[in-house]
Amino acid sequence: MKFGGTSVGDGSRIMHVAELAKEHKDSGNEVVLVTSALNGVTDLLLKNAKEASETGKTSTIKEFIADLTKQHHQAAHDAVTGRKANRIAEIVTKELDLRIEELEKALIGICYLGELTVRSIDYISSYGERLAAPIVCGSLNSLGVRSRSFTGGEAGIITSDDYGNARPLEISYSLIKERIEPMLKDSIPVITGFIGESEAGIVTTLGRGGSDFSASIIGAALKADEIWLWKEVHGILTTDPRIVPEARTIPVISYIEAMELSYFGAKVLHPRTIEPAIKHGIPVRVKNTFDPSSPGTIIVKDLKQSKDIVKAVTVIKKVALINISGAWMVGTIGVAARVFTTLANAGVNIIMISQGSSEANISLVVDESHLDKAAKAIKAEFKNGIIKDVVQDKNICVVAVVGAGMANTPGVAGRVFGALGKARVNVIMISQGSSQHNISFAVNEDDATKAVQVLHKEFGLDGEK
Ligand code: ADP
Ligand code: ASP
Ligand code: MG
Repeated sequence: MKFGGTSVGDGSRIMHVAELAKEHKDSGNEVVLVTSALNGVTDLLLKNAKEASETGKTSTIKEFIADLTKQHHQAAHDAVTGRKANRIAEIVTKELDLRIEELEKALIGICYLGELTVRSIDYISSYGERLAAPIVCGSLNSLGVRSRSFTGGEAGIITSDDYGNARPLEISYSLIKERIEPMLKDSIPVITGFIGESEAGIVTTLGRGGSDFSASIIGAALKADEIWLWKEVHGILTTDPRIVPEARTIPVISYIEAMELSYFGAKVLHPRTIEPAIKHGIPVRVKNTFDPSSPGTIIVKDLKQSKDIVKAVTVIKKVALINISGAWMVGTIGVAARVFTTLANAGVNIIMISQGSSEANISLVVDESHLDKAAKAIKAEFKNGIIKDVVQDKNICVVAVVGAGMANTPGVAGRVFGALGKARVNVIMISQGSSQHNISFAVNEDDATKAVQVLHKEFGLDGEK
């Protein structure tokens, strides 16, 4: 069971989380608890690390550390109950203080050095989860449940050293089994989400929102019956509820659909969450911490063809379009290969590709933060003139409609673009993977919300059709 940041937002919520875990343990299950940082703490850690490197102001850091300490001390007190409450809170507070002291030293170091490397960003941002885990553990203890807390690395999550987006190495699966399985019978181990450790023992992170991924890695290693992700929404919804408040919970969805949804921007799952679960065919459930009896969404391997053609609509923001054109590109073999190799070497993440059969242009959508290096690399590679023009546009969003039922159903693209046309949304670029599980297209940023709303309605996802 993984609990997200909102679910462990403060002491009383942590108490509720501990009660939920205990309830499932008492009814005969073995439970591992994976915790996120308290709501908003990761953002604050990143913000303060950045400021420390830019301004070098130690006074700001001291203030931040004081607030962080107060917040976590308060949570530690509110998360415990019973006869031993005070004693447990005291032990937890001591542990928190030790960790916060390390964090403070690191941040002050950054102030003096004026330098923030990817490695130090991972180190600093790992503290959110490292401060949450002892509190959750204390809360379980106060309910009479045996528990110990582990960092991701201590639990066995060993990763590559791609800081900020580390990949778990295969050895993790056997290590986790070896270290965690023996504890399951008579305790609930609490493991920090989001973070791992490189082979050299340096803290790494699995990318923002990575606690989902941690839970899935741990679930797969232990061959769990199910992996549960507890959040503050009722499950995976037909679209982002902040864009369409009528969005509904999807009761059952396939691995492939859930993967496509998360790749195409549905923030509800870390994009790699499903991979470890697929390996062992473990169902993943997304449930609401604040309404535990509601069934949520279950993500499963095989899904009988459902009547819903389109399951959900997603949007990726903060992307940019690059259009590469030149008459010489027509019939010149290897241009696309050179474009992609150049971008790969420059470390650019490509989200969407399209080339018309006239071959006079290739359009790409990339992460907005990669736009400058992408354009620079392409211009440098094609100095000789095959490519005449490299046009960039930053104000772009990618919208995707996702659903396995689209495969072999004629007319879906017609409905998508017909509805957009009627709503006067201009489509800049289109792409459909041959898996036919999604149709994605780029629109101007200002049109994105409207596009999502129109398609959500068109496919009856609000329950109207
Ligand atoms: P947690 O950190 O608790 O695991 P997240 O904040 O990462 O949870 O994910 C849940 C949030 O994702 C929701 O609050 C919602 O705003 C957003 N979201 C975006 N798209 C969807 C979707 N299709 N279904 C559910 N939630 C979505
Ligand atoms: N705390 C981390 C983040 O905010 C990981 C997570 O919550 O899943 O990105
Ligand atoms: Mg998340």
